[in-house]
Amino acid sequence: MTFNSNNIKNKIEKLREEIRYHNYRYYVLDDPSISDTEYDQLMKELMEWEKKYPQYLTSASPTQRVGIEPVPEFTTVQHITPMLSLANAFSSEELRAFDQRIKKLIPQQKLDYVIELKIDGLAVALVYENGILVRGATRGDGITGEEITSNIKTIKTIPLKLFGDDLPSHLEIYGEVYMKKSDFKKLNEDRIKKEEYLFANPRNAAAGSVRQLDPQITAQRHLDTFIYQATFPEGPKFKNHIEVLNYLKKIGFKVNPHIQLGQDIEEAISYCQEWIEKREDLDYEIDGMVIKVNSLRLREELGSTTRSPRWAIAYKFPAQQVTTKIRDIIVQVGRTGALTPVAMLDPVKISGSVVQRATLHNEDEIRRKDIRIGDTVLVQKAGEVIPEVVKVIKEKRTGKEKEFVMPSKCPVCGAKVSRLEGEVVSRCNSLTCLAQLKERIRHFASRNAMDIEGLGPAIIDQLVENGLIKNVSDLYFLKRDDLISLERMAEKSADNLMNAIEKSKNRSLANLIYGLGIRYVGVHTSEVITRYFPTLDQLRKINLEELIEINEIGPKIAESVILFFKEKENLDIMERLRSVDLNFGQKEEKKRKKKRVQIFTGKQFVLTGLLKDFTRTQVTEIIGELGGRVTGSVSKKTDYVVVGEDPGSKYDKAQKLGITIINEEEFKKIITSE
Ligand code: NAD
Repeated sequence: MTFNSNNIKNKIEKLREEIRYHNYRYYVLDDPSISDTEYDQLMKELMEWEKKYPQYLTSASPTQRVGIEPVPEFTTVQHITPMLSLANAFSSEELRAFDQRIKKLIPQQKLDYVIELKIDGLAVALVYENGILVRGATRGDGITGEEITSNIKTIKTIPLKLFGDDLPSHLEIYGEVYMKKSDFKKLNEDRIKKEEYLFANPRNAAAGSVRQLDPQITAQRHLDTFIYQATFPEGPKFKNHIEVLNYLKKIGFKVNPHIQLGQDIEEAISYCQEWIEKREDLDYEIDGMVIKVNSLRLREELGSTTRSPRWAIAYKFPAQQVTTKIRDIIVQVGRTGALTPVAMLDPVKISGSVVQRATLHNEDEIRRKDIRIGDTVLVQKAGEVIPEVVKVIKEKRTGKEKEFVMPSKCPVCGAKVSRLEGEVVSRCNSLTCLAQLKERIRHFASRNAMDIEGLGPAIIDQLVENGLIKNVSDLYFLKRDDLISLERMAEKSADNLMNAIEKSKNRSLANLIYGLGIRYVGVHTSEVITRYFPTLDQLRKINLEELIEINEIGPKIAESVILFFKEKENLDIMERLRSVDLNFGQKEEKKRKKKRVQIFTGKQFVLTGLLKDFTRTQVTEIIGELGGRVTGSVSKKTDYVVVGEDPGSKYDKAQKLGITIINEEEFKKIITSE
């Protein structure tokens, strides 16, 4: 392509416009729509054009300016010394070029470098007079910033009063205000609940929190600081940057602990490389490293351009956020049955690895971010976490994007998908779902469930992968030869496992219910359920009203249990388990029946009011087992009326007819007094 002077000028101006727009979104709105790396690339491109065609360079170009002018909502302040930005390097070669540039400017000087983490927050300038904090400001355009003193005072690591007696009368401090990753996570989780828009990253959250008109909001956000520079027109004299940092620590500032002195640029480069990986371990984000000339005298000699000092450079890490397109949204079924929508992306590189999918978490999250198939999105990789879609770039919409619909059937097994009240996740509850099989078997065999010793993960993997087990009931149909055919399975171990499986048939019904892995049904709840529904036949007939009547069972558990026993596949599996003589309570039941004397033989009972520890079905069954009968209304033939809380008219009638009235406690005593 050939350029004439006009379209070069247009091209440059277009780039500037684009960068100005992104500056506005980033600095004023705290809501960027492209990644920092993409922004850096635009800036680099502009710098290259301006270098090639210096005739088009103007002082209004974003390459000549720092940040952006303060917004009118804030009072503005003049910085005492300009707060500059930093020149960028994206590779080791560019760092070596920086070193060469310096050596050309100040030849034959001994150079050492200080290497610091580049904290991804926002720069603030603090002014101290006689040790007292008097002003805090944002960087703004480097010359004028926004006055945010009240907000700054809410940050606990910024001293309001400095330590020491011999403090300079005037001190200007530069540092970075940031938000910890853990606080950022909490803040966004809280904002999801309140249905507020989410911050794209901790930097934007920190900037949004510091640039608040109400300091109370800043105070709630738990911001933190690292201080990295000081200017004092008079007072102590230092030779180098390390001495300054030590002094700052001594008088009460928080200075980052990972500061390194490098004898030459190669040492600086290897320290930078080290942090590419190590940064994941920090609880705050860094977007690179800063390499600074240590000697203050040499710094002065080197001086600054309008935008950045010549004695420092920022080494930027490879991108962690990039934009790409969503080709499709598929649904994955996790090992606990949770359905997770996943975005299939046009492949992009994020911090060195190619990313093709990103989690969309759940249906609500998709609606909240308004993510559609075909959208251009900002994707980020945070630590070891799976990449996620940060936001949609709505300006890139063409109108052809399609909305996502959560499937009503499990994409793996075809069972109906359900979403419990108050939950954000849709689930497949089928015992036959292959996606969940390995986890289900592991849980089924665990100690509090069927306690099948020897059924470890390696064996489960093989049993499932060789198609020997399609659901938990298949365990009881395994043959000795099936087990021996598995890798590394000695005959003795196969026999032991066969015995352990056989032995598990005698586990209690509560162990079995827990082992079925019904959502929300832990060890205790399964015991409660089987206390009220002690046989399989009662479980099959289980209904919501009766379950909710039980004190320890809330609506969430009840709904989940009902859903489980509604699923035909699950009931079929229970029948299969019964067919191999698993204990469904019948063993305990037989023992109970044998023991009990028929104390209620021929007696008629009426129930009224709410009982604390029994459902009506239960009381009716107990009375039946003991030879009695429950009828609906009180008559002369009634022998006992069992009264709970808030009894109805049956109670009055019983009193009138002089019938024996017993309360819950008395009833309990009678039935346990065999
Ligand atoms: P910068 O963030 O690249 O570097 C300068 C800043 O680094 C300083 O002002 C200071 O705040 C900070 N810093 C952190 N640790 C430091 C340390 N130890 N020593 C010295 N300084 C330290 O430059 P900038 O001018 O603040 O911002 C430009 C950058 O902001 C871009 O490179 C880009 O990453 C991002 N940006 C992104 C968008 C977007 O739309 N995504 C828009 C504008 C700017």
